[in-house]
Amino acid sequence: KITSKEYMEYIELVAKKIELNKDYVTELDSITGDGDHWVNMNMGFQRVLKDKESLASMKLSEMFQKVGMLIMSTVGGSSGVLYGSAYIKAAKVLGDETEMDINLLCEVLEAELNGIMERGKAKPGYKTMIDALYPAVTRFKESLEKGLDNHTALQELKQGAIDGMNSTKEMEAVKGRAYYQAQKGVGHIDPGAVTMCYQIEVLVDYLC
Ligand code: ADP
Ligand code: MG
Ligand code: MG
Repeated sequence: KITSKEYMEYIELVAKKIELNKDYVTELDSITGDGDHWVNMNMGFQRVLKDKESLASMKLSEMFQKVGMLIMSTVGGSSGVLYGSAYIKAAKVLGDETEMDINLLCEVLEAELNGIMERGKAKPGYKTMIDALYPAVTRFKESLEKGLDNHTALQELKQGAIDGMNSTKEMEAVKGRAYYQAQKGVGHIDPGAVTMCYQIEVLVDYLC
């Protein structure tokens, strides 16, 4: 079960993971985009961490709403709007809950996915962060529906994100900056899929 305090511990681990991968993420966005994806993501998580104490004391839905607003107002670029929309959408499914069990976690991730797809009008296969999140959520949900144990379901979530991230390498971009390149990003993993995958990997490792 995940409380607001634990969710903020998780955010701290995500921020560390992103900090450590500055060069790789920047390089990927320099090839397929404008090179600022790491700066955007790092700025967003660092901003959230500044309010760590107060966020940890909020109700889950309030915390998600506030995280979304902080990210949206701090981060420029597509990822700021998209992650902001994800968190704000997820806040709505949390209701009055003070902790998330594995089924609610699945609903939260699904809401984040829907928030991103509605806001950015992209679908799976467009070579974006969605290509890491969509298969992850799908495999997680299917595992829970089949009644697999929590550990196995979480490993499916993680592997879905990793496989999805890797699948962006050969995809042609349909939206976003990579679309305007001659090769449409083919041959390079999408940076947004990489940072999405980091967040899911860190979540699963934190919980397992
Ligand atoms: P910008 O492209 O505005 O510089 P970032 O570099 O922070 O913003 O983010 C780029 C990432 O955002 C891409 O790698 C891709 O994964 C994701 N992205 C871009 N457009 C969309 C969209 N419409 N839907 C989902 N994800 C998108
Ligand atoms: Mg960029
Ligand atoms: Mg930019």
